[in-house]
Amino acid sequence: VTRRLKHWGWGYEDEQPSVADLRALAALISERLGFAVGEPEEPVPLSEVAVPTPRLRPPDGLSEICSTDTYERCLHAYGRGYRDIVRAFHGRFDHVPDVVARPRTEPEVEAVLQWAVAAGAAVIPFGGGTSVVGGVEPRVGEQYAGAVTIDLKALDQVLEIDRTSLAARIQAGATGPGLEAQLADHGLTLRHFPQSFQFSTLGGWIATRAGGHFATLYTHIDDLVESVRALTPSGPWESRRLPGSGAGVSPDRMLLGSEGILGVITEAWVRVRPRPTRRASAAVLFDDFLAGASAVRALSQTGLHPSNCRLIDPVETQFTGTGDGRHAVLVLGFESADQDVEPAMSAALDVCTEHGGRFERRRGAAAGDGGSDVVGSWREAFLQAPYLRDSLIALGVLSETFETATTWDRFEAFHASVSERVSAAIDDVCGTGRLSCRFTHVYPDGPAPYFTILAPSRRGEELGQWDRIKRAASDAVIDGGGTITHHHAVGRDHRPWYDRQRPEQFARALAGAKAAVDPRGALNPGVLVDAVRGG
Ligand SMILES: Cc1cc2nc3c(=O)[nH]c(=O)nc-3n(C[C@H](O)[C@H](O)[C@H](O)COP(=O)(O)OP(=O)(O)OC[C@H]3O[C@@H](n4cnc5c(N)ncnc54)[C@H](O)[C@@H]3O)c2cc1C
Repeated sequence: VTRRLKHWGWGYEDEQPSVADLRALAALISERLGFAVGEPEEPVPLSEVAVPTPRLRPPDGLSEICSTDTYERCLHAYGRGYRDIVRAFHGRFDHVPDVVARPRTEPEVEAVLQWAVAAGAAVIPFGGGTSVVGGVEPRVGEQYAGAVTIDLKALDQVLEIDRTSLAARIQAGATGPGLEAQLADHGLTLRHFPQSFQFSTLGGWIATRAGGHFATLYTHIDDLVESVRALTPSGPWESRRLPGSGAGVSPDRMLLGSEGILGVITEAWVRVRPRPTRRASAAVLFDDFLAGASAVRALSQTGLHPSNCRLIDPVETQFTGTGDGRHAVLVLGFESADQDVEPAMSAALDVCTEHGGRFERRRGAAAGDGGSDVVGSWREAFLQAPYLRDSLIALGVLSETFETATTWDRFEAFHASVSERVSAAIDDVCGTGRLSCRFTHVYPDGPAPYFTILAPSRRGEELGQWDRIKRAASDAVIDGGGTITHHHAVGRDHRPWYDRQRPEQFARALAGAKAAVDPRGALNPGVLVDAVRGG
């Protein structure tokens, strides 16, 4: 039996909790959040969704890999941001692609691309569709003859392994579990585990500069990419495999973060590593978030490079079950395939102690790695979060995250002003709610704070409420000197703030590069640069 993905949320259709399950969950959620949640609602079934007649028809030669079926068009209409899920849950599909192509080979990608561009369509490269920034929604304007979404997931193979250099050539549509299973056969791993790992793809990670497992050192997929191959409307773009290079502007760096506007990434060589066999983890308590932050700053500047270094504020510990809401918790981890990790862990814990941290290490505890139950709870909450969000939406809870990065010298003032402005917006728009913060990644010169908003929404007004809070958050981040995104990408939703952040001459250079390889302006119009429809 083939399982179908939900057309509106996270996971498979058979994973949706029943109304009775949601009612049971409601009490627990209300208790943890401190405000009442609504009666569970059910998603509008696909049979009640009307989509416009497709404006394009694929040529006969491509009909086998193209679909105009309502399920496929709805499944590919949105990413998986709060705004996407709320709309799809309520059966509202503002923009659906006219045609969804699922090419199985690179020549098929090329054929679909050439047909769609010639037909005057907008072309949306699509990996797992887990974008949270409007990156795959065909919100492209009326100047296009239609929209064709190219879903890469049938290109899912590890094609080659170079054991000597520890690198692998992998197709862009491979999902996290798919590529890890193939690498595991060789005792290797990419170890790039974004929270969306289950469904997101290598091509999507590269196109969005995704942030993964490592909290320090190799924070983004960028650090694991050796070379990239993409098809542009003007021809292929493939870089040499090199461990490093000083030859001008990097062709890989241009594709990293290109969010589908320059070409369809079809494969990449990535750096892999032997699977870790030694791990150590610990949970350290601090009196408050800022005390924890000073320990993390010191730690980030030691050169110890913990693989996990997630500082969670007291509010968030309560919701994730990692604490009682009175302390900040630092989840710390080290791992290695061949080295003893205990010396590094001991040195890191010494730094924490010097900054007022308290911990208890129980060897062989729940996590099986010398860590504590807190570490296990954190991991479980992390894995369940995407599923929980669907339930929160069914219960009328507004659930949004935003992430950024700033330097240590500005961090305290930044954290204070963002927290104050966003909390005020939550109170103003929703009456009550909660804002929490954790660090997902840390650098010697600054952290990447990740904020979570949970607030009661008013049914039917969710999108307007989201819009006002999102604006307040984005304005606060940019006014405070942060980046509009550390790893969630720009898409269509972050454009106004991305435009404020980037240098104007760079914006012109990027638009020029796009015009050179995509002269008709077909690829993902409106993302990163304005849509310019060429002849
Ligand atoms: C619950 C949840 C948790 C998340 N956690 C993380 C996290 O921990 N770290 C993180 O970085 N992000 C996270 N994200 C965001 C998202 O998963 C990432 O942006 C991810 O990299 C998107 O991959 P995808 O394959 O789903 O791409 P899609 O969503 O399909 O596409 C994203 C963008 O990339 C482009 N694109 C996709 N594939 C290609 C290709 N082959 N060639 C050219 N362009 C392409 C699309 O056009 C679009 O602009 C999360 C999202 C959700 C919903």
